Amino acid sequence: MTQSSQSLFAADAYLPEGWRRNVLLEWDADGTLSAVTPDQVEALPGVPQAAGPLMPGMPNLHSHAFQRAMAGLTEYRANATDNFWSWRELMYRFAARMTPEGLASVAQWLYIEMLKAGYTSVCEFHYVHHAQDGQRYANQAELAQRVVDAASASGIGITMLPVLYQYSGFGARAPRDDQRRFINTPESLLDLLGTLRAARPEHAALRYGVAPHSLRAVSEASLRALLGGIDASAPVHIHIAEQTAEVDTCIETEGARPVQWLLDRFDVDRRWCLVHATHVDANETLALAKSGAVAGLCLTTEANLGDGIFPAHDYLDAHGRIGVGSDSHIGVDWRAELRLLEYGQRLTRRQRNVLASAQATHVADRLYAAALDGGAHASGRAVGALQPGHRADWLVLDAAHSSIAEHAREAWLSGVVFCEHGDTPIRDVYAGGVKVVDDRRHRDEEGAYARYRAALAELLA
Ligand SMILES: [Zn+2]
Repeated sequence: MTQSSQSLFAADAYLPEGWRRNVLLEWDADGTLSAVTPDQVEALPGVPQAAGPLMPGMPNLHSHAFQRAMAGLTEYRANATDNFWSWRELMYRFAARMTPEGLASVAQWLYIEMLKAGYTSVCEFHYVHHAQDGQRYANQAELAQRVVDAASASGIGITMLPVLYQYSGFGARAPRDDQRRFINTPESLLDLLGTLRAARPEHAALRYGVAPHSLRAVSEASLRALLGGIDASAPVHIHIAEQTAEVDTCIETEGARPVQWLLDRFDVDRRWCLVHATHVDANETLALAKSGAVAGLCLTTEANLGDGIFPAHDYLDAHGRIGVGSDSHIGVDWRAELRLLEYGQRLTRRQRNVLASAQATHVADRLYAAALDGGAHASGRAVGALQPGHRADWLVLDAAHSSIAEHAREAWLSGVVFCEHGDTPIRDVYAGGVKVVDDRRHRDEEGAYARYRAALAELLA
């Protein structure tokens, strides 16, 4: 592992206003940027130089770590109408087998994969809480704590969002037996969060929030109780409208579409992240954009599960906030998320560069900047920008990579996002000022991968 320095010089760096030259970055022992100064005359004596162009690391706004272990294992037709709900049956069987040690190994490997892909922070939507029989662990926060520790070990920053899963469906339906590891009341979930917070207090790389699982899994009253038990600035994430079946049931039982229902009853603002706001009508699209909440888009998972296509063009036109997440981890690559976001629009509209705007003519630049901003909001942490007070989280590109070599720097982000030519163009990754990935290798790669394989072998046995 390369020791962190307190300063770094970059010939090119992507600052909030765009690419700048000859940038000196300085950060404190805590991993927070203290100064970012462009237009230095030349590299300073004694200051290390970045191996290529530097850009902020991407926040991953939605992750279920344990699902990494089943990626690639459900790509066959199990019945005549294979869909999200039949996938969920398989996913529940996987969740039922997960042990604390197994989860720790899977999560640590996943977070290493994230860092290598250029995700420098993650929002973990964590809902497997209890032992296999549904009883609480002696340490009720055992599994969440394992995930937090896996993040720390890997070097990634984390927003831990313990999930309130109370019911199996709209109308406060009793939980199913195969949901027993998830189930809490608002009070028991807040108690679990208190235990976790006492064992692992917040610091610059760790923030807590909450995640009501979905409108299927909580009631209006329990959602109010949950929100009443946390501080008013803590991030709140919810799965909202992933499936047309859940939209239909919500209309039937609650009298409104899910996003409308939520906006009508709760003070949804910038601390909210509505994950899979896939199925929104024109009114909801505008209202959600106006709320300041982040639409959490997980394009590779939504494509994999056959969810549907979010109306990204109209939502961005209305200045809506977006961010991206790897969710089920069928792919762990923010570049693929942004690419698919644009390609979904191209395929439906039969046009090119749909998500560009008059001000941002390069699609990749617009989506990258939007996802940095939205991901930072969703994480509730000062990330996603190279500016003082923010985390020293960045990627170093390989300027000789065939996706960007010889291109003018105005085209670099386009090459990074849209081109798929062999290895990643992301060479090094710094998280909290520490170089955790050096020339495409994470500092703990071998050991963590061996532990991941052992955990997977046990899960699949
Ligand atoms: Zn999810």
